[in-house]
Amino acid sequence: MLNKVLVANRGEIAVRIIRACRELGIKTVAVYSEADKDALHTRLADEAVCIGPAPSKKSYLNIKNILEAACLTHADSIHPGFGFLSENADFAKMCEESNIKFIGPSYKVIDLMGNKSNAKALMKSAKVPVVTGSEGSIKGYKEACEIADKVGYPIMIKAAAGGGGKGIRLVTKKEELEDSYNIVKQEAKVSFNDDEIYIEKFIENPRHVEIQVLADEHGNAVYLGERDCTVQRRNQKVIEESPSTVVDDKLRKKMGEAAINAVKAAKYANAGTIEFLVDKNKNFYFMEMNTRIQVEHPVTEMVTGIDIVKEQLRIASGEKLRFSQSDIKPKGHSIECRINAECPEKGFMPSPGTIKELLFPGGNGVRIDTSVYTGYTIPPVYDSMIAKIIVHGENREEAINKMKRALDECVISGVDTNIDFLYKILDNENFVKGNYDTSFIKKENLA
Ligand code: ADP
Ligand code: ADP
Ligand code: MG
Repeated sequence: MLNKVLVANRGEIAVRIIRACRELGIKTVAVYSEADKDALHTRLADEAVCIGPAPSKKSYLNIKNILEAACLTHADSIHPGFGFLSENADFAKMCEESNIKFIGPSYKVIDLMGNKSNAKALMKSAKVPVVTGSEGSIKGYKEACEIADKVGYPIMIKAAAGGGGKGIRLVTKKEELEDSYNIVKQEAKVSFNDDEIYIEKFIENPRHVEIQVLADEHGNAVYLGERDCTVQRRNQKVIEESPSTVVDDKLRKKMGEAAINAVKAAKYANAGTIEFLVDKNKNFYFMEMNTRIQVEHPVTEMVTGIDIVKEQLRIASGEKLRFSQSDIKPKGHSIECRINAECPEKGFMPSPGTIKELLFPGGNGVRIDTSVYTGYTIPPVYDSMIAKIIVHGENREEAINKMKRALDECVISGVDTNIDFLYKILDNENFVKGNYDTSFIKKENLA
């Protein structure tokens, strides 16, 4: 087993990883920026090393300082969490070269999947259904015109290196193509330092359904069912659940097997997620693979009883998967809400500040993943997600009622939050009926 893990992240995911390590008897090293000296992850780890000033570029993205911290503390491995360096192939490669185990897939796979356009090509060759669109990336505007005409409007222009809902634009008609083309190229350059773009057919009224996979380094792989992340704002997930109301046993098996094909084609090891769109005729299409732990992984843990982070640590230690596909039997229904320090009335503007009073919900089937506490000051420089509430119920109805009860109980004062916004979604008739698609929040005027 790994002996000492350096957690190259902050916030709730860093805390989540430290807890998993502790339960497995693995020592932990936190790294923190000058803004995070009082952060929970800094306090909970066995050791903590300051890696630079507040801006991410100087600390949580500072590869040199993070690798130095690992050497200094004799960590034998690094868990990257999500965001930050988690999908940085160069970082994973440097870890390997420094004899530090990167807890995730090999840098070659990260590199391959990090370019969403190349990933699609690989999936197509592995017979995984993909969204139709350009074969690879677009060379110039003229090619974009030809492909858009061939695919047929509406289309989406997407940054090959994109992530976090950025670098995606819907184009409904030809007249809009040139402007959109230029805007996405510019955004891709600025956000991802890579202006490669590709085109996809816009799937109308889709559901976002993703499959969690676990693969060991000996060629074994299982899927842990699906997560429905259809409730989105600006292509970013707001509420996630498992199972999905649009997936039955037959579709689950088909999508699960496609995900396993994807994993095998990519020679993937560790935890990963294959994201699909499902159309109204229940056809599904590969969209991208996330080669890391995801924000919404707890809903899968709640229904399967499998601790995905611990499995990541076991896989990285070289262990074989301890279960086969027939052992995976999801039970009940789980929902996750992302609690953000932001103000929905002011266009979801981030709301950093000091938390004066904090009362999280509890009770049967309620889990809180967070890194905040009373008196903690949320720094303005990082992501606004401060907690996740995850519930587990016998069925969807119970899970919805439990989440509403939990949100009701939640008291966070000193900063604005999106709690009322989340409650409105759970209270919405069409959400309750399972009658919605990715445009739900907009269509229902919830934001
Ligand atoms: P998930 O797929 O796990 O739901 P998200 O898309 O919400 O993940 O991203 C998880 C975190 O990583 C968020 O904080 C998001 O802002 C960040 N993130 C994701 N992709 C990128 C990227 N390519 N560049 C920078 N940050 C990213
Ligand atoms: P990211 O890397 O930012 O997570 P994705 O490619 O996963 O980007 O897309 C994010 C979201 O954008 C999807 O969950 C979906 O709601 C929407 N989207 C992306 N591609 C399409 C498409 N071809 N048709 C319809 N919606 C799409
Ligand atoms: Mg995605």
